[in-house]
Amino acid sequence: MNLILLGPPGAGKGTQAEVLQKRLNIPSISTGMLLRNAMEQGTQLGKEAKEYIAKGNLVPDVLVVNLLRERLSQSDTNNGFILDGFPRTCAQAELLDTICSIDKVLSLEVKDEEILKRLSGRRVCNRCGASYHTIYKPPKQDMVCDNCGAVLSIREDDKEETVLNRLTVYHSQTEPIKEYYRLRGKLYIAYGQEEVSDTTKEVLRVLGLE
Ligand code: ADP
Ligand code: ZN
Repeated sequence: MNLILLGPPGAGKGTQAEVLQKRLNIPSISTGMLLRNAMEQGTQLGKEAKEYIAKGNLVPDVLVVNLLRERLSQSDTNNGFILDGFPRTCAQAELLDTICSIDKVLSLEVKDEEILKRLSGRRVCNRCGASYHTIYKPPKQDMVCDNCGAVLSIREDDKEETVLNRLTVYHSQTEPIKEYYRLRGKLYIAYGQEEVSDTTKEVLRVLGLE
């Protein structure tokens, strides 16, 4: 199954992608992670992406599409994949349709005020991609990743003014994609719950994977 997870920043797409990846045995691919890796490695693309990300703006479509195209050419995606954070514009959605065919698009809905609460406590693992929350999903040991033992960090673009801009960008540029997939009969909607496990139940139910 080729699946897309859509939703505002901090909706919990990454967390649900982790669950779905184990359940469906297909890789989850986050363009945000791919970009952050490129920035850490200091590649040309990483350097170009940096200023956009720091401000909470979208990285230009060509850069992200090329990065994704390369990732999708790897053989572990042959039986399917989960996209987290892509597409983020209608142009990206159209380009994606020329690269592969998408089966389902799950929109994970969470209100803006909830997003602001969540992102202020978010802690991430740069090594394995796991994410935590100081209140809602604390790691067993303070600031240490349960999965891989790396030290957790706060994402630079999780500061409040940047988060507000990411939300504005989401509503203006990404949300219209829902209509694109609705018209093609591929849109499924799940509402994010307070408990991660309740959201997972809802996601599996909506996708018919119970
Ligand atoms: P979140 O979903 O919490 O905003 P991501 O890790 O998905 O976090 O993305 C972080 C940043 O990376 C975005 O704010 C944006 O600048 C950039 N980015 C990620 N995916 C895309 C994309 N498909 N198109 C353009 N920019 C992207
Ligand atoms: Zn980790």
